[in-house]
Order: sequence, then C-alpha cells, then structure tokens
Amino acid sequence: MKLSGKVALITGAASGIGRETALLFANEGASVVACDIDDRGGAETVTMIEQDGGSALYVHSDVSKAKDCRRMVEQAESEFGALHILFNNAGIMDSRDDNAEVTEEDVWDLTMNINLKGVFLGCKYGIPALKRAGGGSIINTASFVALLGAATPQIAYTASKGGVLSMTRELAVIHARENIRVNALCPGPLRTELLMKFLDSEEKRQRRLIHIPAGRFGEAAEMAKAALFLASDDASYVTGTEFVVDGGITAAYVTPE
Ligand code: NAD
Repeated sequence: MKLSGKVALITGAASGIGRETALLFANEGASVVACDIDDRGGAETVTMIEQDGGSALYVHSDVSKAKDCRRMVEQAESEFGALHILFNNAGIMDSRDDNAEVTEEDVWDLTMNINLKGVFLGCKYGIPALKRAGGGSIINTASFVALLGAATPQIAYTASKGGVLSMTRELAVIHARENIRVNALCPGPLRTELLMKFLDSEEKRQRRLIHIPAGRFGEAAEMAKAALFLASDDASYVTGTEFVVDGGITAAYVTPE
C-alpha cells in the first residue's frame, strides 16, 4: 500500500475527483479527512470508505471561510494525530460565468473565493500541520484551462485556475527545504457533474470533445490515480509541476478525425 500510516485531507470530497481520490487513498492505507459543504455526499463518501474497511472522517468545511479551513486541519490532527497529505480540490464552475463583458461581479467574487482563496486558506492552515508532521505533499487542483484559452468563455473560472497554478509554483519553491512538495493537478475535461452541468447541451459537449485527441471525456477515477502518484513517495522528487492529465488536449494543434 502506497499511503500506509498517512493522513490525507481532501476538499470537495463529496463528489467527482474528491470522492474518487478519497476512496483510492483509503484503499492505499491512508486515513481520510473528507471535507465538503455537501454534508450528505460527504457522509456517503465516509460510509463507502468504512464499508471497505478504511478509516475516514467527514468535516463540513466551506473552503472560502478561514474558520472552516482552520477547523478541518485541527480535526485531522485531533482525530488521526497528524496531517501528511493536503488535496485542495474543491471548486465550482458557475453557469453564469461567461466572457468579461457579461459576467457579473458576484460570479467573479464567488468563483475566486472558492477556487483560489480556498486553496490559499487550505495552505495557510495546512502547511503548519505538514511541518509538524515533518513534511508532506500538497496537491492543488487547477485545470487545463490554466494553460490554454478556451473557446467556451468562463472568465472567472479560467482566471481562478491560473492563480492556483502560479500560487502552486511559489509554494513549491518556498517550502521545498521543509520537505513539503506542492504540485498542481491539471485535469482535462471530465465526465463529472461539474462540467456536464456547465456543458448542458449535446452541442456544447461535442464542441469540447472535438479538441480532445483521446476522443472522450476523462473520468474522475483517472484523476485520483494521478493524485495518488503526487501524494505518494513515488513522486519524491516531483514538486512545483503542472501535472497535466488531459487526454492530449494541451498537446494538440489539430485533433484526428
Ligand atoms: P464536482 O462538482 O463533482 O465536485 C466538486 C466538489 O466541491 C463538490 O462535492 C462540491 O460540493 C464541493 N464544493 C463546492 N464548493 C465548495 C466549498 N465552498 N467548500 C467545500 N467544498 C465545495 O466536480 P469535480 O469535477 O470533481 O471538480 C473537482 C475539481 O476539479 C474542481 O476544482 C474543478 O474545478 C476541477 N476540474 C474539473 C474538471 C472537469 O472537467 N470536471 C476539469 C478541470 C478541473
């Protein structure tokens, strides 16, 4: 098992990438602190882990709120004794997010508060705990849209993920000598609720699919496997990267017919 004896905190663990990663990490021996604002989904994730013989705790935590982020880290340490892995994964894609001309300020603020400030707050309270544990791994979920301009406009989302990527690099450099690795996971378009709600017609889905060399949307479970690599000692010399898992989308100029 790759994460034996480790404690992993995962935000956005009620669904999608967060849930799949929680299940995989627990399967690999980690104790999991599953954080979300969706209490039902979060509790379900914990039940799934426990039914599989693993160990997990759900903590209600809105990542845009400092007190919630402080509490989730405190709970990880009080329940499981330490924190070794921090997966800042929670994020939203607001259906009103569009181009700069029409997107309302409240959509910008909400998106930034969850997607970008949420990662900052996770690190603000998580890093002292990782230091107390003697080091660890932080994974921040960015996106391929931090690397490429998208034809389907989502100005706030794209800007928030660009911020996650640059913040990740700086965190990696600053904390490297403290035995803390920090990497950004950049998923391509996935068949999760988040994107399928945003691409809410077959026409919009097809428009995105034509850009993916692999010819299909990715799966949350495929992101969980990448997160496992970054979390584990297999990635002991990997820090500051933009870890792209995107079916080839960022490599393509023209995709095959
Ligand atoms: P998802 O909607 O299935 O899961 C996101 C989870 O975050 C949900 O459980 C939701 O309740 C939770 N969440 C929302 N706001 C929160 C808050 N304020 N505090 C705590 N939790 C909150 O989506 P997903 O596809 O699994 O997305 C996970 C991450 O991956 C996000 O950061 C997303 O931007 C990123 N991502 C997704 C795709 C994609 O195509 N789905 C592509 C690239 C990046």
